[in-house]
Amino acid sequence: MIIYGTRGKNVHVDSGEFTCPRCADEQSYKHIEVKNYFTLYFIPLIPMGKAGEYIECEGCGGTFAPEILTYDPEAEREEMATTFRRLSVLFLLDVNRCTSPTLKAVQEIIGDTMNFDVEREDIAKDVKQAQSASPDIKKFFKTQTSGYADDGKFLLIITLRRILETECPLEENERSRLLELGKIMGLRAKTVKEVLEADLDEAE
Ligand SMILES: [Zn+2]
Repeated sequence: MIIYGTRGKNVHVDSGEFTCPRCADEQSYKHIEVKNYFTLYFIPLIPMGKAGEYIECEGCGGTFAPEILTYDPEAEREEMATTFRRLSVLFLLDVNRCTSPTLKAVQEIIGDTMNFDVEREDIAKDVKQAQSASPDIKKFFKTQTSGYADDGKFLLIITLRRILETECPLEENERSRLLELGKIMGLRAKTVKEVLEADLDEAE
């Protein structure tokens, strides 16, 4: 009886340096391709094409899709800071709290959270734009955050809460607006409530 079949074999095709999201640091990686081989008596003989590929971090052993090599944490932070900035301005206008202290808080709090320089001029532009276009806030929150995981959405709620609280404690209408926006982003009302009530200083 002739025993034949196919088998996947890991082939190390390349290596280099990348930013590992798990190590949150520069690490060397191995680019591994999984190749299918035609086997005869369990011995791989003829390569039959690629079955898959992945990037393995040599620091933590984590494996990632090859797209990780073009992952740019800097650009991602900038994009998130920009989205948070726009949504915060929109929210402040919506709850009638667009004042110079809260706008300053937008700059400082988002800047700190994202470790990214938020420009005052950009905030001023956002205010003008939002005032002239008066976009549908619910729709805007939903579409702008659709790519975020839940922790990104919670971070947004916490950021908005912290911006308002630089002036005074949350008003009831602000609290219910945040709950509403959380719901629109697909977050559980119970958890949003907890986030709004949590002692933020203690959590840090
Ligand atoms: Zn790693």
